[in-house]
Amino acid sequence: MFRNLIKIGGCLGLLSSSNVLCNQIKGKNQDDQLPHYHFLNDHDLQKLQKKHSNLSIIDKSYTEHILSVIRDVQTDIVDFRKNADRLIRILIEQAISQIDKKKHIKQSPLGYYDAHELKFQDEEICFVSILRSGNAFLIEALKVMTGASIGQILIQRNEETSQPAYFFQKLPQNIKDQQVILVDPMLATGGSASMALQILKNHGVKEENITFLTLVSCEQGLGKLFSEYPKIKIITAQVDPILLKNINYLAPGIGDFGDRYFGTVKTNQAQQ
Ligand code: URA
Repeated sequence: MFRNLIKIGGCLGLLSSSNVLCNQIKGKNQDDQLPHYHFLNDHDLQKLQKKHSNLSIIDKSYTEHILSVIRDVQTDIVDFRKNADRLIRILIEQAISQIDKKKHIKQSPLGYYDAHELKFQDEEICFVSILRSGNAFLIEALKVMTGASIGQILIQRNEETSQPAYFFQKLPQNIKDQQVILVDPMLATGGSASMALQILKNHGVKEENITFLTLVSCEQGLGKLFSEYPKIKIITAQVDPILLKNINYLAPGIGDFGDRYFGTVKTNQAQQ
């Protein structure tokens, strides 16, 4: 299905009109006419990080072999979930590494050492999932922070208007006092994430207490979120070069993350 969408997108000129981005599409695969996408180079990534000081892109040596598996259209659900979970765990650990620490002296079996422990108890952390795909983060999140609270926000894109539509939220009452880790695996236009961030702010959460985790993002989505919420932090594993217009999918992307992670589409359908 995705091959066809991308083929159609390419033929109709639906790809992003940004020169920078279009230049990333270098060649076509001789056999099936699918475009070959090239990732941003180190220079472009550095520029992006300079532009957004609160953006962290995980060192690719930790992630590129994992992302290569989950992007692969041939990867079955077992390997998809296993590798998505590995990547999610890396993002969660990175988010935790950015939370304030308190330093004190502790004792190991052999002597004393300087301990740097989180300033916050698990109960002071809240993971907020943008449904449905954000729920993929919860298994790993609760392995790392068993006592954290979980909030959920359901926002879905209206197929006719392409605008995000709000359906449901359930957030802890004390969320304004918590460190919030908002999760959604794919950041495309940023419409849903922006709406979720506004909901958090309406509940009194301070921008500086919010970290947004997303496996794959793009310049457009990052730009939108940082222009609207300049004090949030964003952590991503990779920034894709293309946002396919009309279908609002990232390319080379992963496809529909939720369908692949939750098994609501057969993997071989993606190849038809
Ligand atoms: N959501 C997805 O599942 N994939 C994309 O590429 C964009 C949004």
